[in-house]
Amino acid sequence: MSEAEDKKLGMDRQITRRDFLNGVAVGTGGAVASSALPSFALRALAEPAAAQDQPGYYPPALTGLRGSHAGSFEAAHSERDGKFPAKAARANDTKEIYDLVIVGGGISGLAAAHFWRAKDANARVLILDNHDDFGGHAKRNEFRAGGRMLLSNGGTWAIESPFPYSKVARGLMDELGIQPAALEAKCYRRKVYKHLSNGVFFDKQTFGTDRLVAPAPGGRRGGGGSLEEWKAFLEKAPLSAEARQDILRLETEAADYFPGLTSDQKKDKLSRISYKDFLLKIVKVHKDAIPCYQTRTHGLFGVGIDAVPALDCWVLQQPGFRGLKLEPGPHPRMGYTPRGFAAPKEPYEFHYPDGNATIARMLVRKMIPGAAPGHDAEDIVTSKFDYSQLDKQDSPVRIRLSSIVVGVKHAGRAAQAKQVDVTYVRDGQLASVHGKNVVLACWNMMIPYLCPELPEKQKEALHYGVKVPLVYTSVAIRNWGVFEKLGVHSIACPGMYHHEMNLDLCVDIGGYESPKTADQPILVRMERTPCLPGLPERDQHRAGRGDLLSTPFETFERSIRDQFARVLGGDGFDPARDIEAITVNRWPHGYSYEYNYLFDPEWPPGESPCELSRRRFGRIAIANADAGAAAYTDSAMDQAWRAVEELHSA
Ligand SMILES: Cc1cc2nc3c(=O)[nH]c(=O)nc-3n(C[C@H](O)[C@H](O)[C@H](O)COP(=O)(O)OP(=O)(O)OC[C@H]3O[C@@H](n4cnc5c(N)ncnc54)[C@H](O)[C@@H]3O)c2cc1C
Repeated sequence: MSEAEDKKLGMDRQITRRDFLNGVAVGTGGAVASSALPSFALRALAEPAAAQDQPGYYPPALTGLRGSHAGSFEAAHSERDGKFPAKAARANDTKEIYDLVIVGGGISGLAAAHFWRAKDANARVLILDNHDDFGGHAKRNEFRAGGRMLLSNGGTWAIESPFPYSKVARGLMDELGIQPAALEAKCYRRKVYKHLSNGVFFDKQTFGTDRLVAPAPGGRRGGGGSLEEWKAFLEKAPLSAEARQDILRLETEAADYFPGLTSDQKKDKLSRISYKDFLLKIVKVHKDAIPCYQTRTHGLFGVGIDAVPALDCWVLQQPGFRGLKLEPGPHPRMGYTPRGFAAPKEPYEFHYPDGNATIARMLVRKMIPGAAPGHDAEDIVTSKFDYSQLDKQDSPVRIRLSSIVVGVKHAGRAAQAKQVDVTYVRDGQLASVHGKNVVLACWNMMIPYLCPELPEKQKEALHYGVKVPLVYTSVAIRNWGVFEKLGVHSIACPGMYHHEMNLDLCVDIGGYESPKTADQPILVRMERTPCLPGLPERDQHRAGRGDLLSTPFETFERSIRDQFARVLGGDGFDPARDIEAITVNRWPHGYSYEYNYLFDPEWPPGESPCELSRRRFGRIAIANADAGAAAYTDSAMDQAWRAVEELHSA
């Protein structure tokens, strides 16, 4: 883009987008140095004060590139590439000994600390995490716009899961006082967008012209809509006559494409072809119709319909299955999420304004009461945390941020060792601590590098899954008059950089009030899932991860501004004037990998990679949602519980 075009979009505007905290780059000292380096290098030994202990340290308020932010991963990548400087000899031994050291301060790591302390109230626990904030994927983004606080989820969106929460996970929620059904009834303000609908933006590169068409029939991710609604929508859509005709047939007619087969036989057949192939080869829709559906599965799977089984799309209420008269219920060849959705569902879902960051914050406040004021599951939302309380010497639970663990090794043979030595990098320096036990609540694929002493078969299993890359972007805008004018609150953009843009959900809770009138500032939530259609799912995730790690914030910002200009600009939105802040939460290692039977084998019970990979090894147990191959908060809790039980009963 030319300089003039950049200017028009507002690329030169002073908005809150860079990683600055009270005017000082976050991670005072070493973190700044390491984030500025293309790769990792150790610094000379010194004793700098930790950034998290500095006055004003408050990472939720940072904007710009968040999620896997600069400084949080370089040492780990260097370790992966075998380029890490020799460890043991250089580590500064802190001589700290804990009953439990936990690697990873996401919900699994925090829950493991909680479960451990519930068994041993005198235990001393240290949690190490590579990010500048706790919570892992459950991260909070805080904005100030128009003199008010706006909150959004940097990652984990809501308390919801395809399967009912287990007794353990539900028990933990009860202990924290989180009652999702009651909160939903009390705090959701659905009426605010009642008069607005969904829309679809057809972009020039994919559909030949830029055009927003609204209302779009059916739900946000497809499914539903009457014949009349579809006719009206398709009339305005810039699609070929064949595509329109076939979409109308697909969406409104009910044909049995497999006459003579039983429901089970049909399900089996559908589990062996992608939804894209089902549409093209079975339903025989014109190829021009495919781009309208390609990204429908991005939000849940991180790949498009070329890599998602048709059977899974049936559960997700995509069109084309009505005439097949499939019996309700799950099938063994469905992925984890669709299998759960096909079974009777939990009656609740609740989205805190900062997503499940609230659960992480509740856990931290419970274990370190001095870190935040308040006492219930509502006041927590506006509670300001004092990060300097997280790693106090006299606290039984300590959370040490910006600390990338690079080595976890038994002191002696695993079967006889009395402790495990844990080496980490912080502020460019190596340090070690010691745990009588260790829970690895970090990502599976990293564990073999941290812990080379694990059996080869286990390391191979740990490497199997490829986490799903995702981007959750929040854009603060001055007001949402343009959405009101267009009559939409949610816009699918199947061909664009971010495939969705939605007004943030309206939730009032504790002292927090969401914007309710169109003259107020609001957050627009956008999602991007980089992938490479045509490849097997895991290869698509690898490609997407590479894309995310090599994309600078400037590229994200330009694409965001361009998308706002093209989707809303014709109706009075000026990105240079109306965008107040941007936060891009990039997650190159996002959702835990869930098995996809288009590409993965059907392992016998006990033999799937997640089961082989989570075996306890001496005093080291493995938690994290990856250990359950299920990308949900309850999985993170369940795996924490199992890991803690395994160590306690060893
Ligand atoms: C964008 C997004 C949206 C989601 N939405 C939902 C949702 O709506 N509902 C839901 O239930 N689930 C959702 N999930 C899934 C859910 O967030 C996760 O399953 C859950 O939070 C995982 O928790 P965890 O503690 O197992 O892992 P994580 O949250 O990933 O935490 C692990 C932590 O360990 C750290 N770590 C890794 N390696 C090291 C190392 N070497 N040293 C130190 N630390 C290390 C990681 O950086 C991370 O901070 C979502 C996930 C993503 C990415």
